[in-house]
Amino acid sequence: MEVVKGVPYFCKSENKCKQYPYFEGEKKADILIVGGGIDGAIANYYLSEKYNCVLVEKERIGCGCTSCATVLLEYQLDDFAHELDSVMSESEIISVYKMGLDSIEEIAKLIKTLGNKCHFSKRPSMLFSNKITDMPSIKKEYKFRQKHGFNVQYINADNNPYPFELKAGILAPDGGAELNAYLFTKQLIEASSNQSQIFENTKVESVEKIDDKYHVYMNYGDKIIVDKIIYATGFNFEQMPSANMCERYVTYSLVTKQIEGLSFKNNALMQDSGDPYHYFRMLPDNRLIYGGEDTKFSGDTISESVAKKKYEKLNASLIKMLKQYESRIAIDYEFSGVFGQTDNNLGLIGEGEDKNIFYFTSCGANGIINSFCGAKLVDDIIQNKQNIFKKLFDPNRYITDK
Ligand SMILES: Cc1cc2nc3c(=O)[nH]c(=O)nc-3n(C[C@H](O)[C@H](O)[C@H](O)COP(=O)(O)OP(=O)(O)OC[C@H]3O[C@@H](n4cnc5c(N)ncnc54)[C@H](O)[C@@H]3O)c2cc1C
Repeated sequence: MEVVKGVPYFCKSENKCKQYPYFEGEKKADILIVGGGIDGAIANYYLSEKYNCVLVEKERIGCGCTSCATVLLEYQLDDFAHELDSVMSESEIISVYKMGLDSIEEIAKLIKTLGNKCHFSKRPSMLFSNKITDMPSIKKEYKFRQKHGFNVQYINADNNPYPFELKAGILAPDGGAELNAYLFTKQLIEASSNQSQIFENTKVESVEKIDDKYHVYMNYGDKIIVDKIIYATGFNFEQMPSANMCERYVTYSLVTKQIEGLSFKNNALMQDSGDPYHYFRMLPDNRLIYGGEDTKFSGDTISESVAKKKYEKLNASLIKMLKQYESRIAIDYEFSGVFGQTDNNLGLIGEGEDKNIFYFTSCGANGIINSFCGAKLVDDIIQNKQNIFKKLFDPNRYITDK
């Protein structure tokens, strides 16, 4: 299945991860993590501190959807709080927002320990609209967050500090962060304590349960015997019992060359609330990444012709927004990738129908931030401890809904 089209800006050849060997022979471990994208890397980093973990990746580390993630890490979700009230209670939404802020702090702490090799920076996050009709929703979300103690400012045409038009916006000065997901994945993998148990070019083909153990067979017949399996296989659902555990979309991205003179106050992360929506941020080398125009993903490949049209649309919308920079905007990269969307905007993280099989997939435009509580969630489930996010991330919520 093709989950990425084009050459993502983020995993240039000079950034490539150290190469890990393919797996040969037979091995026993506590946990097998299948998939070496950012989700597998997060799970492996934390869980290998406590358990004997093996990670296998069928291709190269970080080269799935992770390689093209724009990475606006924001505590807010894709939908407004008031649009989520049929799937989450008010207190759950507040817990999820707080968990997003905590995840940003946790990543910052981790980067302090490991060193910043992934262009991590805390950033303000800005959700805005330039349509009068969207103003009531933006105001409602602003009031919701303000009422519950989140640090937010209301922005309108009169106090707009940005070089483009907007009618209304919510600025969360400490609500976001950015990083290069490919480099972060590489960093987590290379800093994990189980270096001799990480394998590339090793595809899980089949699993057999014998007594309480899983005998997991790789593409050349080699075998790993484990107590538990964590599938962090992204949006390739081949290994999952029920196809389409969440809706899949393709999102499209442009990266410009450096745009002389362009800056956004404090390099805020920008997302509009349009339909289709757009998101953008400045990259550390002063380029702009601009994305959105999502389409539903079906079949096994991303359509080249649709992608081409979407890049044209994105380019036109970017030029319309930054009219005064038109002559300085030149596109350097075009790429697209698949991501998943769930009705409560949260990932699929937790145990499957079989209690020793776990899924670990971040979903939604801000999914990566939420997968930071995923390793703790999985560990708590393994240890039979309570965790308030168990129900919200439960992968079975989709199986039972269908
Ligand atoms: C263009 C774009 C922009 C995005 N922007 C953001 C954003 O701003 N913020 C945000 O939070 N998220 C964003 N996302 C979403 C984010 O990229 C994903 O949520 C995240 O990368 C998913 O990571 P993953 O590790 O689950 O998947 P992947 O990176 O796809 O990793 C899964 C890995 O599993 C491996 N695998 C699959 N099957 C097997 C098997 N049988 N055996 C062994 N290995 C296997 C694959 O080869 C792959 O490497 C964006 C996504 C795209 C496409």
